[in-house]
Amino acid sequence: MATSIDPVCKMKVDESKCKFTSEYRGKKYYFCAPGCKRAFDQNPEKYLAEEKK
Ligand SMILES: [Zn+2]
Repeated sequence: MATSIDPVCKMKVDESKCKFTSEYRGKKYYFCAPGCKRAFDQNPEKYLAEEKK
């Protein structure tokens, strides 16, 4: 089972069941809820910058 971390809320997301995805700069991101996807789409840099910490 492949899991990804939702960059918005840091929850683990099961990629095979995930319905909320977004692509940014060629990389695919998975979200637990439409609200998280929307937040990411509006400001992806904010969440990706935090991921690097
Ligand atoms: Zn989330």
